[in-house]
Amino acid sequence: VINFYAGPAGLPLPALERAQEELLDFAGTGMSVMEVSHRSKEYDAVHEEAIALTKELMGLPSNYKVLLLQGGAHLSFGMIPLNLLRNDKKADYIVTGNWAEKATKEAKLVAGDRVRVAASTKEQKFSRLPHADEIKVGPDSAFVHFTSNNTVEGTQWHEFPKVGHVPYICDMSSDFMWRPFDVSPFGLIYGGAQKNLGPSGVTLTIIREDFLEMCEAQDLPSYLRYKIHAEKNSLYNTPPTFGIYILRNVLAYNKSIGGLKAIEASNKKKAELLYGCVDKHSGFYKGFVTEKAHRSVMNVDFFLPTPELDDQFVKEAKKAGMVGLKGYRDIGGIRVSTYNAVTVDHVKTLVDFMEQFVKTNG
Ligand code: PLP
Repeated sequence: VINFYAGPAGLPLPALERAQEELLDFAGTGMSVMEVSHRSKEYDAVHEEAIALTKELMGLPSNYKVLLLQGGAHLSFGMIPLNLLRNDKKADYIVTGNWAEKATKEAKLVAGDRVRVAASTKEQKFSRLPHADEIKVGPDSAFVHFTSNNTVEGTQWHEFPKVGHVPYICDMSSDFMWRPFDVSPFGLIYGGAQKNLGPSGVTLTIIREDFLEMCEAQDLPSYLRYKIHAEKNSLYNTPPTFGIYILRNVLAYNKSIGGLKAIEASNKKKAELLYGCVDKHSGFYKGFVTEKAHRSVMNVDFFLPTPELDDQFVKEAKKAGMVGLKGYRDIGGIRVSTYNAVTVDHVKTLVDFMEQFVKTNG
């Protein structure tokens, strides 16, 4: 099938085939990778390679540490303020969607009013991003938190928000490694692997050394302390070894096809095809996002003229081998998730189907 699910999502076939081949005999051990010790040299090679490939693909400078954690973005929503908003520190959160709102709520549970809302587009039902003049960041802000891609609403920051020299913390759960970018303004980047990078259970976290130094709290449970994970190279406890192994396979595959530049070109082509079809038939397909510059390359939301037609579209697409197209429950309509593993040919198949669907039902 062609997998358009929003997450967990499809993975590149060669990365899964590699896992299939090695499933019962990993690195000559006569066991599956999920059966060997996380302290073994065979697993250690995978662990180190996953970290090295993340650094290489993203072009991370040497003052960034890569952490392989658990708990998804949800645990990070809490770990960030617990570690980084001590001693009366304040931060500004940009609220652009369902997940950004959740991140802000969780941070407020920890740091109360010291977590401020720099901007919100909730009144517009998160159908666009805030403009530069709508974003208010305090001069005393330790960081600005934002969500680079709003998975539910289908908006994405193609140019990151303008916030002066305040460092960013970013939830990249749904667009991690979709293109190359300059990480230097980022103090911390986090995201669950289960959309662009691998299976659920691994939370990829990238933290700059000065942010690591800010994590001075000694009174947190050990698992919640970024510093301990950094000191132990993400082997403080048993890491999600199978998930990290698949992550390694995906990253190695990404490197083999030309890295993030090649992935960006493919993602842009897919978005051009899909939005091209939506715009061509704008009397039939109506996009959710109100400003074209804010449209996501990863999640494309649109409506058909009636909810009945939305349902029919999803059903017929499934019959044609395409799954995961039903929109998020709060928004409805159709959501096409076109993460890295979705190919240009997959999207061409969907666009042909969309063309045919208008002809028959328009
Ligand atoms: N943030 C974003 C942007 C997401 O898309 C999601 C999940 O869909 C989450 C956070 C929640 O992630 P998790 O379930 O890994 O905690």
